[in-house]
Amino acid sequence: NRRIVLASRPQGEPVANNFRLETVNKPVPAEGEVLLRAVYLSLDPYMRGRMNDAKSYADPVAIDDVMVGASVAQVEVSNHPDYKVGEWILAFGGWQDYVVSNGEGLMKLGDNPSNPSFALGIMGMPGFTAYMGLLDIGAPKAGETIVVAAATGPVGATVGQIAKLKGCRVVGIAGGAEKCRHAKEVLGFDECIDHKAADFEQQLAAVCDNGIDVYFENVGGKVFDAVLPLLNTGARVPVCGLISQYNATSLPDGPDRLSLLMGTLLVKRIKMQGFIIFDDYGDRYPEFAQDMGQWLAQGKIQYREQIVDGLENMTAAFIGLLKGENFGKVVIKVNNP
Ligand code: NDP
Repeated sequence: NRRIVLASRPQGEPVANNFRLETVNKPVPAEGEVLLRAVYLSLDPYMRGRMNDAKSYADPVAIDDVMVGASVAQVEVSNHPDYKVGEWILAFGGWQDYVVSNGEGLMKLGDNPSNPSFALGIMGMPGFTAYMGLLDIGAPKAGETIVVAAATGPVGATVGQIAKLKGCRVVGIAGGAEKCRHAKEVLGFDECIDHKAADFEQQLAAVCDNGIDVYFENVGGKVFDAVLPLLNTGARVPVCGLISQYNATSLPDGPDRLSLLMGTLLVKRIKMQGFIIFDDYGDRYPEFAQDMGQWLAQGKIQYREQIVDGLENMTAAFIGLLKGENFGKVVIKVNNP
């Protein structure tokens, strides 16, 4: 069993030495347990938070423990009446080849799913996050302007495409010309602005000439600073993630803009609400799965994956994800089916 453990806690940006790849014995399932062999492992921004020794909505990973994360696996050995060998499973198995489970928290994906890795992305946590955050908190109406950053990632790309299906005008924000082209040409966004451009703020204001009705917050930082003055009266801001801050070790330098933020929320009656997908919406997964399954089957939603081969390349892919080096949902292929 190859696995990646947390070797030390990062100061700022994670480095290779914060992780350790080791090989240990394959675990042996007891009566009532299954042995799962991972095929695909998920990489997600929230994993950075788990590396800190700080209380968040979930506990940190302990030093020398396996890094946490979702996996798509097949049953290799079953001592459990509900599971048979070969069956595909979505599990929370961590960054490793093998895990033993008593069945708790497993989701069956069938004997022969057409796209097993989709359970980590468009049909799983990121897709579900986009769907609930946009529709329940963002409550978009036809004709409104929606802005979303990390526009080509699994959450942002899905937010924008669902907003298009709801008749909105969609402005994406992404890093670089290639991602912006993808957002417009493949995902069907109306506009996409490169946040690395020197005149990013001016470009965003120019394409949001009717203001912003829904800002789906994925990144924070300078992107939020550019969005804030453009928010319309009655705007909604689902606060989903703040990836530009995940490697930060202190608050940014001043000036202090808290009173500007509070004043804007007050005067414009803006609703700003954070959410943690499974804690807040876990019981609504079936509703999402039905809609998203249908949209995918009808070709109404495009989905881009970046498959990285080999557990040994997972650490570098994770460090890159936090810097925008990924293009689409990052999935690590660790074993052949
Ligand atoms: P992505 O693949 O979109 O995340 C990485 C992207 O973030 C990068 O490719 C990059 O895109 C962008 N990014 C990184 N740093 C910066 C920066 N400094 N400024 C602007 N953009 C930056 O990941 P996901 O789609 O999986 O996640 C998107 C967000 O949703 C994350 O913040 C994540 O934590 C959050 N999330 C929250 C959940 C919840 O329950 N609340 C559940 C799932 C995700 P680019 O190159 O285009 O800038």
